[in-house]
Amino acid sequence: MTAPSNENPFAEIEERYESFRYPIAINAWNAAVGEPTEDVSHHEQAQVAFFSDDAVSALLKKLAKSPDPATRNRAEGWLRLREQDGMQEHESIAPITARIVEAMRGDPGPLHDRGALMAIYSSPDADARDEALKEIQRRSEKMLPILRQRSVALNKLAQSEGYEDFVHAQTGMPLREATAQIEAMCAENIQAKSADWDRLNERGATILGRAPTDADWTALSTAWSAEAGFFLKSDDFYSLSGRALKKMGFDVDAMNIQIRSTPGRPGGAAYGISIPDDVRFHGHFMDGFEGARGWFHELGHAVHMKAVTDTKPPFNDLPFERALSEGVGEVFGAIVRDGDWVRSEFADLSDDEMKEYIAATKALDTLVVRFNCYQTRVELSLYEGDLDPERLSTMHEEIFGVRPKYGPAYPIYIYLGRPLYIWEYVISAVVTETFINRLDGLPLVGPEAGEILRRKLLAPGARLTLKEYLAEQ
Ligand SMILES: [Zn+2]
Repeated sequence: MTAPSNENPFAEIEERYESFRYPIAINAWNAAVGEPTEDVSHHEQAQVAFFSDDAVSALLKKLAKSPDPATRNRAEGWLRLREQDGMQEHESIAPITARIVEAMRGDPGPLHDRGALMAIYSSPDADARDEALKEIQRRSEKMLPILRQRSVALNKLAQSEGYEDFVHAQTGMPLREATAQIEAMCAENIQAKSADWDRLNERGATILGRAPTDADWTALSTAWSAEAGFFLKSDDFYSLSGRALKKMGFDVDAMNIQIRSTPGRPGGAAYGISIPDDVRFHGHFMDGFEGARGWFHELGHAVHMKAVTDTKPPFNDLPFERALSEGVGEVFGAIVRDGDWVRSEFADLSDDEMKEYIAATKALDTLVVRFNCYQTRVELSLYEGDLDPERLSTMHEEIFGVRPKYGPAYPIYIYLGRPLYIWEYVISAVVTETFINRLDGLPLVGPEAGEILRRKLLAPGARLTLKEYLAEQ
């Protein structure tokens, strides 16, 4: 008889991880779709304890030196997972994040929690949007010092593990280098898309009779993209995406993905409750481009989860680097921006309608890039321990062309739960572009592109790293 403990040296770690991961995931899903939730605080504590447990790190470091390559590889995967998720779940960080989220929740009332975000996202009433922006600025003023506090605490934690700072631990580049990279990427992108940005502002000025402000851009842009994308009906998203993905070799019907519509909440998310068996997504999928883009993006995450070949943690998951998985989501999102695909589905569109649609999608895309760049630069500057409102306003001016109407704010505050969340979105654009460039003219909605997507980006799951993907020839 052999000792069972020799068979799987990771058994205890896997069991411990699954014991909190599954109930927390189910509960997060229920909260997101408005189903009854349970108190999972003991699971959250178990998660913090797991990610803070030095004994687990020590065991994994030992296994990472195993003579058996499979064991070595799996141990390295666990260590990467702990590196990516571990610091933000650490006992010295999680309580600060809770305070950040609380500060942005605001006081009870119609703008409470996501209400303010929803108003600037889609309210047709300019005064209501202005009120919401003012409220977001008030909350941000309380929140930004706490965000700085978290950044400083994360640096300390990262330094205790041998990194220069948290940005170094998370991105592989020390803060200064990562900041320079983001500044260069953002400046280039903003410069390249300035005509799209001008078009949005000109259109806004015509509608409002004055120059649009930071309270107006998002609602103007989503309304324009809905108008110009009038042919994209949310009731058709399932069949539209099913047909597109079938051409790429994916059978969405057979995937048995649970989908829920969550109107009244901006954004959406995919949940790998148990990959690959139990995969779900929800979102605010209104008619028009923005709703369709969200649908294809979240469906993309879900298809990704279904396509991961590994069935055991830590690898039966999306890549740990969210820049990589978000890049994949946007490869699916690129279908809706693909002129050939739009023409193939909507042959009746006139050239003018098509032109207007493309202009509206580009305006929304450049607005999103600008928000991502602004919020990333704000957060990166806080890792320097410096909170200078004047400097934050200057960043806003560099990115949007004007200073923030009511002072520095963090408008898309749903992303504050995770450090450097938006940084990953900025980098994810490189993943999407790299994939599309490597197609070298092959149609995106076709069998070859689907096959390359599956093999290179989806199937490897959490085994894939950003560095590896970008370095590949
Ligand atoms: Zn996503």
